[in-house]
Amino acid sequence: MAAVLALLASAGSLNAAGTQPQVVVCIGNPLAADRWLVEEWKRELGRIVESSGRELRVANCDEPGAMQVYFMRVHPLESSALGAARTRGGVVLPLLEVYTEPLAAMLGTRLPGVLGRAMARVTAHELAHVLRQETHHEAAGAFAAQYTAGLLRAARPAYFAMQ
Ligand SMILES: [Zn+2]
Repeated sequence: MAAVLALLASAGSLNAAGTQPQVVVCIGNPLAADRWLVEEWKRELGRIVESSGRELRVANCDEPGAMQVYFMRVHPLESSALGAARTRGGVVLPLLEVYTEPLAAMLGTRLPGVLGRAMARVTAHELAHVLRQETHHEAAGAFAAQYTAGLLRAARPAYFAMQ
């Protein structure tokens, strides 16, 4: 019985077509984002979301419920931060930032295939904060507080799957 309940719970947000539940994101500052980076970001985020048993949809930010992702150069206070999710009163808001400068420095490249993919992996981590409504981290894995360059470059998309 418990297993059945768990399955029902995880399938609770099936979309109208009865297919996989959707993760809806939008880019809050599309004009600031490099086109090729965005393409790689979408492709990789799609793979990660798919490996989480969900479907990615990139919407416009005027759509209610879309989780907003902003591509920023660097966090104003913590220059080594790779990404952040805004919180207010204990709630993790669907308002995410990904920082390209520390990512590019860490990876040693701005090639879209590497940097865009890493941006997607950081985005998936921040999306997990929103979906879980958790601000703390786990000791290891995709929900850990820190990533290495090797992980961002070489791990499989499924490693970053959102639980
Ligand atoms: Zn985090």
